[in-house]
Amino acid sequence: MHREVVQIVKSYEDAINQNRIIGSICEDCETISVPPRAVCKKCWSDKIDFTTVEPQGKLITWTVIHIAPPTYVDKAPYILGIVELLNGERLTGLLRLPEGVEPEFDMEVEAAFEESLEGAQRLRWIPYHK
Ligand SMILES: [Zn+2]
Repeated sequence: MHREVVQIVKSYEDAINQNRIIGSICEDCETISVPPRAVCKKCWSDKIDFTTVEPQGKLITWTVIHIAPPTYVDKAPYILGIVELLNGERLTGLLRLPEGVEPEFDMEVEAAFEESLEGAQRLRWIPYHK
């Protein structure tokens, strides 16, 4: 099905609000993209469907943000991590570590969904609990 970019962004946000991460799956070549895209990154098909992906991965890299944008001022410093999901796709998000735990390369993480001040759920990465 052909989908508009606006609709895709909304579907992604709706899924996060339901504590799920979705990607797009190409109906022609089955390539998955996370976050979802309107057009397949491999074959450029616009026949896109949605699929729920495993909310788990490993930490590829991170950066510590000391100077935050206005809505995050009270949270600085915080860690912004890039996580490689089990399917190889990469997602950026805030990393929440317990007191005294430092980020490490390849650290196993899972998604947590926190309610923001605006009432919407936000994706966070936390250490994976087996
Ligand atoms: Zn494709």
